[in-house]
Amino acid sequence: MKYDLIVAGGGPGGLMAAKTAAEDGLKVIVIERKKNIAEINRTCSQVFYIRKKSPTKKRFLSDGYIEPVAIENGFDTMKFVFPGPGFSLEYNGPLKPYYNWIDISPSGYWIYSRRDVLWGFFFQKEAFVAELLASVQKAGAEVWPQTIVMGAENTPEGVKVSVRGKSGEQTLEARKAIAADGLESNMVESLGLNKKRQVLNPVKLVGYELEGVETDLPPFSWANFCIPSINRFMVIFFGQLTGDNTLLSSGSEEVLQKVMKHPKFASWFKHARVIKKTAFAARVRTPIGKPVEGNVVVVGDAGSPVETWIQGAIASAYMAVKAIEKELNGQKGYPQYIDWWQKAFHFNKPDYFRWVVRQFALANAWSDDEEVDYIYNLLQEINKESEGWPQILIDENLDLIKERKPEFYERLQMAYEVAEQMIPKEGS
Ligand SMILES: Cc1cc2nc3c(=O)[nH]c(=O)nc-3n(C[C@H](O)[C@H](O)[C@H](O)COP(=O)(O)OP(=O)(O)OC[C@H]3O[C@@H](n4cnc5c(N)ncnc54)[C@H](O)[C@@H]3O)c2cc1C
Repeated sequence: MKYDLIVAGGGPGGLMAAKTAAEDGLKVIVIERKKNIAEINRTCSQVFYIRKKSPTKKRFLSDGYIEPVAIENGFDTMKFVFPGPGFSLEYNGPLKPYYNWIDISPSGYWIYSRRDVLWGFFFQKEAFVAELLASVQKAGAEVWPQTIVMGAENTPEGVKVSVRGKSGEQTLEARKAIAADGLESNMVESLGLNKKRQVLNPVKLVGYELEGVETDLPPFSWANFCIPSINRFMVIFFGQLTGDNTLLSSGSEEVLQKVMKHPKFASWFKHARVIKKTAFAARVRTPIGKPVEGNVVVVGDAGSPVETWIQGAIASAYMAVKAIEKELNGQKGYPQYIDWWQKAFHFNKPDYFRWVVRQFALANAWSDDEEVDYIYNLLQEINKESEGWPQILIDENLDLIKERKPEFYERLQMAYEVAEQMIPKEGS
C-alpha cells in the first residue's frame, strides 16, 4: 500500500499524529479541508493548563485532559512536557502566564478561584499549529489541504478513506487511519461510532479579539462574567491574547456588545476595537468510550463531548500512533490506548456530566443580577480564606445561603433536582 497511515484532519491532534508517525518512519498522508491549515477562525481561549501530579479537582474543575503537563523554559527553547505519554514538544510562539482566575458579578464583586498562582499560559494556537505543520512536512508526510474526508471503511487489509478535493472524489488506502477531524467527525460518523452516543445541547460561541481594552483586573488574569440579565446560559469569558490583545467570548455578538456597553464595564471597552471575530458551533455528545474501530483510531475532539483541549488532542494523537505502531508490528497496542483514553479525560469520569448539568442548574437558578451580586458579596468573605469557583463555594456553604437567601436556596435545590434527571448515560 502507498500509505501506512491516513490522518483525517490537520488540527493539533492530526498534525501531532502525522509528525509522530512520520518521524518514526511511517508513510503518512494528512487530509485537511482548510486551505491554510495554520489559520484558526474557530473560537479558542488558547490556554495551556499547567497540571501537577494530584490536581485538586475540587478547586479546579475541567472538561479536558487530566494528566500532568508542564512548560520547560530552556535557554533558547521552550517545551511543552507530557510526562504521562512521555514526550515533549517544542514551541517558540508567544506565551503569557495566567496567575488569577476571577468570577465577576454584575456590580463588580470578585470571586477568585485562583489567586497569585501560576495555573496556565496563553499560547497562540496559530503559531503552535504552524510549528507542528512544519515538523510534519520536515518529517516527510504528505499534506493535502482543501480536501474533505467523507468517511472510512475497514477492509481485511487495512482501511479505505474516501476524500473529495478540487479534482473530485477518490479513495485512498492505507494500513491504518486516524480520525482527527474534530467534533463533527465524518470518520466517526461513517464508522457508526456515533450510534451509541447521546446527543445533548448544541453549543454556539463567538469570540472577539480586541485591542485597546483597559481593565482594572490584576495583570495576567482570566475573568468570567456572571450577568444573567445579559446572558444566562453561556458564561461570558475574558482572557489575554498575543501582545496587548484581549479575548471576549460568549454565545452571540449581541451578548458581547451588551457586555461592552454594560455600565459597570463600559470603561474597559471605551477605546476597544474588534480586530478579529471567531466562531464555534457543535453538538455536544457523550464521549466515545472505545476509540478504536477496526483499523481506525479516534483522537482528540473527534471522540469527545466538546473538547479534549489542545494538550489532550496531541497527547491522544501520540498515544494512538504508538498503539498503531505496535499493531503494525504484530503486537497488541489498542487495549492500552483504549485504557489510557478512558483514564486521561475528565469527560470519561462518572461525575463529569453531573458537573456539567449542575453548572447549567446554577445559571438557571439566578432570579436576577441583584441576586448574583448578593451571593457573590456573601461569598467574597469566605473567598478570602478559601479559593474556589462560585459554584463550589455555594455548594460548600449551602447552610449559610439557606439562612441568608432562602428563596435562592430553594430555587437552586429544585434546579439541581431537575439537573439530576438530565445526566446522560455514560459514553458508548
Ligand atoms: C470556545 C473554546 C475554547 C477553547 N479553549 C481552549 C483552551 O483554552 N485550551 C485548549 O487547550 N483547548 C481549548 N479549546 C479546545 C481546543 O480548541 C480543541 O480541543 C482542540 O483544537 C482539538 O484538537 P483536534 O485536532 O482534536 O480538533 P480540531 O482542532 O477541531 O481539528 C480538526 C481539524 O480537522 C479538520 N476537519 C474537520 N472535518 C474534516 C473533514 N471532513 N475533512 C478534512 N478535514 C476536516 C478541521 O478543519 C480541523 O483543522 C477550546 C475550544 C472552544 C470551542
